[in-house]
Amino acid sequence: MIDTHSHIYLEEFDADRAAVIERAMAVGVEHIVLPNVDNTTLTRMLHLEATDPVFFYAAIGLHPTSVTADFEKELVWVKQELDCRPYCAIGEVGMDLYWDKTFVTEQVRAFEQQLRWAVDYDLPVIIHVRDAFELAIASVEKYNNASLKGIFHSFGGTVEEAQRIMRLGGFKMGINGVVTFKNSTLGSVLPHVPLEYIVLETDAPYLTPVPYRGKRNESAYLEYIKNKLAEIYNLSPEEIAKKTFQNSVETLKILTLPAQSR
Ligand SMILES: [Zn+2]
Repeated sequence: MIDTHSHIYLEEFDADRAAVIERAMAVGVEHIVLPNVDNTTLTRMLHLEATDPVFFYAAIGLHPTSVTADFEKELVWVKQELDCRPYCAIGEVGMDLYWDKTFVTEQVRAFEQQLRWAVDYDLPVIIHVRDAFELAIASVEKYNNASLKGIFHSFGGTVEEAQRIMRLGGFKMGINGVVTFKNSTLGSVLPHVPLEYIVLETDAPYLTPVPYRGKRNESAYLEYIKNKLAEIYNLSPEEIAKKTFQNSVETLKILTLPAQSR
């Protein structure tokens, strides 16, 4: 399995990170993708990736909740990073109007600049969308082309939204612990989404699946997400693992990036 979205580099894991990694490997997690948040998380993320560049793959970007009036300054170091070494994706980027609508214009501009870089650098994008689907998809549609790829991380939308993502051509949906929640609509939406559009993620330390809901999340819990998807798609957990692994490798620049180049 590949955890396509984990913030295991954050402080929440400082006390027992090695044990968390060991538990992930023990259940068959082969790679973890680390999406960046902003310039306060960059060093932590890169240090962790350097400890095992076969297992970890960093993505680079500015998260929408870190976009402020000063976003252009922030984007300078994103560009510098893109120019100085290879990354598996641009992320996480996108639109979030749940917490704060103050910087909606700045969020659109920051997102679109990073989408243009995805096109220019031929990199996939890891997209965060909360309470802003219409705005976010409009930006992606604007820059979409035959080679643009990516993941709508933490997908929890409607059938219509899923169809709009599928129509883009190169995009997948990241499914996490939310799929195990009693009130989740994913159980009725996912039967309309072929498995070829699905990748696994935890979004650790957030969105912990049942039976650990409310506690800190970690990559080993991909097990519960995989098992729930097996139920929904009426396939074995092994088939879910295999197919979502392929989908992740098809979309993100992992495995193709040699460890010694990062
Ligand atoms: Zn995230």
